[in-house]
Amino acid sequence: MNSEHGHGHHRAGPDPRTESHLTPEQTQALEARVQALEAVLVAKGFVSPATLDALASLYEHDIGPMNGAKVVARAWVDPAYKQRLLTDATAAIAELGFGGLQGEHMVVVENTPTVHNVVVCTLCSCYPWPVLGLPPTWYKSAAYRSRVVIDPRGVLREFGLELPESVEVRVWDSSAELRYMVLPERPAGTEGMSEAELAALVTRDAMIGVAKVCVKSDRA
Ligand code: FE
Repeated sequence: MNSEHGHGHHRAGPDPRTESHLTPEQTQALEARVQALEAVLVAKGFVSPATLDALASLYEHDIGPMNGAKVVARAWVDPAYKQRLLTDATAAIAELGFGGLQGEHMVVVENTPTVHNVVVCTLCSCYPWPVLGLPPTWYKSAAYRSRVVIDPRGVLREFGLELPESVEVRVWDSSAELRYMVLPERPAGTEGMSEAELAALVTRDAMIGVAKVCVKSDRA
């Protein structure tokens, strides 16, 4: 993983909505390149296969959007926590036990009925790993990175999110120094839900800002 900017390690995707836009042949070629790279790194003694497996497993099972969802749900039920989250996100997120690599300097921005926030890394793929896991392919695509800045409403519309003109859209550019997460609006009709039930509603896309949180029965 490269957290530096400007190294040209991106792949352009034809459509920012498409999670997996590689053909089977491209995927095969990519896997071959990764394996070749891994073989060289292992042979030179830079990494061990066990370490790589442990890292992959960590991000598959223990680190992901479920962490961010817990942060969001806590903020929804605990106004004092929400205040701390908006004031010093890194510390408030650490209160729930999340932090570390690529999450050292976090900022959380709050969606309201009048303001909608969306996060991008225009230069590469900076993303808050401890709360959201690894970024989706579209987040790293040149199409998303360039277009969300120029035409955020248009890009959000492609994700199925139509925002009224009265809502201000703010685009936040994550970097190696500062990573953003969106605190989505708590949906109506969730007043009786427990914190765990609320967390189960929160999606990765809502915390990037390309979707809203819906109650499950409302989902397509
Ligand atoms: Fe970046």
